[in-house]
Amino acid sequence: MPDGRHPEGPTEKCGVVGVSLDGREAARPLYYSLYALQHRGQESAGIVTHDGFQQHSHVEMGLVGDAFDAGDVESLNGSNGIGHVRYPTAGSVDSCCAQPFSVSFKSGSLGLSHNGNLVNTAELREELAAKGHAFTSDGDTEVIAHELARNLLEADLVRAVKRMMSRVHGSYSLTITHDDTVLGVRDPQGNRPLCIGELDDGYMLASESAAIDVLDGELVRDVEPGELVVLRPDGSGFDSYQLVEADDAAHCFFEHVYFARPDSRIDGSLVYDVRRELGRKLWEEGGVDTDVVLPVPDSGRAFASGYADAAQADGADVEFAEGLMKNRYVGRTFIMPTQDARERAVRLKLNPIKDVVEGRTVTVIDDSIVRGTTSTQLVELLRDVGAEAVHMRIGAPPIAAPCYMGIDMASREELIAAGRDVEEIRQEIGADSLSYLSVDAVADALEESRTDLCLGCVTGEYPYDIEGEAADRDVARPDIDGAEAGVADD
Ligand code: AMP
Repeated sequence: MPDGRHPEGPTEKCGVVGVSLDGREAARPLYYSLYALQHRGQESAGIVTHDGFQQHSHVEMGLVGDAFDAGDVESLNGSNGIGHVRYPTAGSVDSCCAQPFSVSFKSGSLGLSHNGNLVNTAELREELAAKGHAFTSDGDTEVIAHELARNLLEADLVRAVKRMMSRVHGSYSLTITHDDTVLGVRDPQGNRPLCIGELDDGYMLASESAAIDVLDGELVRDVEPGELVVLRPDGSGFDSYQLVEADDAAHCFFEHVYFARPDSRIDGSLVYDVRRELGRKLWEEGGVDTDVVLPVPDSGRAFASGYADAAQADGADVEFAEGLMKNRYVGRTFIMPTQDARERAVRLKLNPIKDVVEGRTVTVIDDSIVRGTTSTQLVELLRDVGAEAVHMRIGAPPIAAPCYMGIDMASREELIAAGRDVEEIRQEIGADSLSYLSVDAVADALEESRTDLCLGCVTGEYPYDIEGEAADRDVARPDIDGAEAGVADD
């Protein structure tokens, strides 16, 4: 849809985990690992476990700490399970879409946690509905669950997942329970992250390695694009099946720029190092001499320290200072429903330290500009407390198109960079100068080729086949007539 609204219903932007242990209850480790992924979703949290006989589930709206009390965690029996945190979509607080999705059917029970977004949900749903499948939500996760359940009636687990992957198209990192077996699946282009961790008494899967760290585990590796990982229910190891091979990956660069924790390692790179490197490149591509460099907390910090280091190494007489203080108790400005509320929230959230700024020229570093609310407000605030000049430097290219792959951006009309060049954006936000990073700098810092990245939100060309949008590659649609198109032979 060219208007930037997602064509497939509510999007699922989330964190997922899965754990298989040698006899120890899985619920508590799952609960802690969800805490480590809280930044990936604050709308709802849930856990599904299996004790070898039956499935247990607890899914609630709210933050992890509010969604569970001690009794809830105790009641989730079994040493195998999965968990989920769901990201809020602007304007929708919808308990129907809280996950893990769980269902019992003829071949057992299924639990499913999804991060990402399918782009053929409507097509598949219509087809499944015509065959008598009843849906309780309009999200894509339930479609994946139905596809999997249907295939499990006729095929073994690995084959059923393979068939499911040939039918669902788009972005998905999944953790799944099929009875007491925990699986992880990453879409053939590896759009959202998923990694494998080793614990003292078992194995786990998680969106980000920070969730493995909190359980004192070791990161084993990333799940490969198109790979199925099956954790052995006794916690003794995992089995891997490379089910689909795609020519190129489509890793989301925005995970590194904004979404993931800096202490996570994703697709081989530590997010903190990538952000510092992006900051260094920002200086190389558009450095400006000022008295002080200010990060926008928290996401601008690593960029600003890399930028300031590079500037100082070049001999610039610039100070790095935490001149903007963040009130941690204000919710995310980005998801406020009205522009007025968003502006008020930025003011509540960020306060400049007058003594750091007054009478000085400043460079403000943020990871991204979406609607422009934060930067416009910041420029005004800094001038109000006496900044002599305010220069903005942004650690990503201009975001000019929506994300259909699971990150809540905004519709095209709301994006300040849609239809404006950098000079027009500068005028709009009122800065003395503005510069962004180039796409090549992003690819270099990630040590990836451009063709292995999803850059849809900055180029307007997507690695998936989306109605009304351009594609940046030959996108092979899956054969939804039942054939296993695009699936490697056994
Ligand atoms: P805006 O104020 O609309 O220009 O949004 C930019 C600010 O929101 C930046 O400080 C980013 O750190 C942050 N941001 C960027 N993308 C997102 C997102 N998908 N969800 C929440 N916040 C975001």
